Amino acid sequence: MSNKVRVRFAPSPTGPLHIGGVRTALYNYLFAKKHGGTMILRIEDTDQGRFVPGAEEYIIDSLSWLGIKFDEGVHVGGPFGPYRQSDRKAMYLEYCDTLVNNNWAYFAFDSAEDLEALRKQFEAEKKSFQYDAQTRVTLKNSLTLPKEEVEKLLADGAPYVIRFKMPAHEEVHINDLIRGHVVVKTETLDDKVLFKSDGMPTYHLANIVDDHLMEITHVIRGEEWLPSAPLHVMLYKAFGWEDTMPQFAHLPLLLKPDGNGKLSKRDGDRLGFPVFPTQWTDPKTGEVSSGYRESGYFPEAVINILAFLGWNPGTEQEIFTMEELIQAFSIERISKSGAKFDLEKAKWFNQQYLRQHDNEFLALSFEILLEQKGIINSDHEMVLKIIELIKERVSFVNELWEQSKFFFVAPDTYDEQVIKKRWKEDTAQHLKSLADIINNTITHQREPLHDNVVQYITDNSLNMGQIMNCLRLVIVGAGMGPDLFTIIEMIGKEESIKRINKGINSINN
Ligand code: GLU
Repeated sequence: MSNKVRVRFAPSPTGPLHIGGVRTALYNYLFAKKHGGTMILRIEDTDQGRFVPGAEEYIIDSLSWLGIKFDEGVHVGGPFGPYRQSDRKAMYLEYCDTLVNNNWAYFAFDSAEDLEALRKQFEAEKKSFQYDAQTRVTLKNSLTLPKEEVEKLLADGAPYVIRFKMPAHEEVHINDLIRGHVVVKTETLDDKVLFKSDGMPTYHLANIVDDHLMEITHVIRGEEWLPSAPLHVMLYKAFGWEDTMPQFAHLPLLLKPDGNGKLSKRDGDRLGFPVFPTQWTDPKTGEVSSGYRESGYFPEAVINILAFLGWNPGTEQEIFTMEELIQAFSIERISKSGAKFDLEKAKWFNQQYLRQHDNEFLALSFEILLEQKGIINSDHEMVLKIIELIKERVSFVNELWEQSKFFFVAPDTYDEQVIKKRWKEDTAQHLKSLADIINNTITHQREPLHDNVVQYITDNSLNMGQIMNCLRLVIVGAGMGPDLFTIIEMIGKEESIKRINKGINSINN
């Protein structure tokens, strides 16, 4: 492929970007970069009624967090701007006029009430109404009204929309790079509105005009746009732009983890995972929706998760850097069927990236978390050591606290199950002896402490597992964790002895 590939991500600023949208952006980006092409961010804000303040900034910020970069776009400029459709408003009417003049579009004066009444009438006859080749001949438009009346209505400023005149009996052929060849009969299609009474183009008109003017070569977008593709192909034909029409690739849906159907925000709330890249606060209601960033996912992990939802490299490799994804990506390997979101797999990806990050990097994030927990001025060397010890046990930086809080604070509670299973009548007495042994051990280092404790247990023919578990219980509060004597060495002899005494008191009472 030549280096002329030009693709666009064209979101509407109607709220936070769903991860399905992020995946669309990612696949566009991978495709563009693979072919040395250009990636464009175009904001499609023609539907003023659905405009949400802050959504555009949100889209830019979250994609930048993920490392999806744009060569041209609303925030970086470029030779094909402006890149926000509301800033291109003036040019759409001109294109629409061309269609009217060439008999590919017409003015329609039907009021919303008239159309609603018709819809009801059709429903009563168990039919569904659409404005199309059959019905338009009976309706109030420039195809049915005398020319003078149309002119008068326009001159009087009567409200109108401009509709596409879908041919009655034609076949539309769509060559989708993922779905193959799709044929649609035009009699099933309606006369979509191209230009609205508020002076704004609809999505369909603006999208085609812009893709043409911006010299887009490939339209890679979600499957929900497949039903619009026949109209889009017809629009290219109507404008006489068939030769430069972009190629289409409609991506499979992102499905909920359980059952079928599109992954929605409700599924995320229900099953406890974010469906947005970063946290979003609804400007109207103040409702906060969680994001991957704030939930502790690494951007590299989110990219890897999304890359695999609908695509696979055809090899065993699962961990890919962005650069590797760019190399490996191809539209041929995108699947036709929907991709189920898998929360466990998502966590697994994050865990893999956490393990790859060096301890210094993780320590910086962990220290922020520690401050939030009230641990101010933690010893950096100690934090690094802790991370080394527990890195393998967690998938998220914020899980580090749960796994290591005993390094910073003495336990307040003790695992009931361990008590039930291991705490015997003489346990307190043996732990007291162990406290003395720890106290009398000359150094605070792990090995001598360990050896002296083991010596005591063997000398008194005690059960190793039972005593060790109880010692861990009073020091850590639980029956599991990293090596006990490393913990004792790190928190120090004095603190360990304090904890032994505190533990005995609270458990025995
Ligand atoms: N504005 C549309 C959206 O919000 C773009 C669809 C397309 O890529 O053609 O997804």
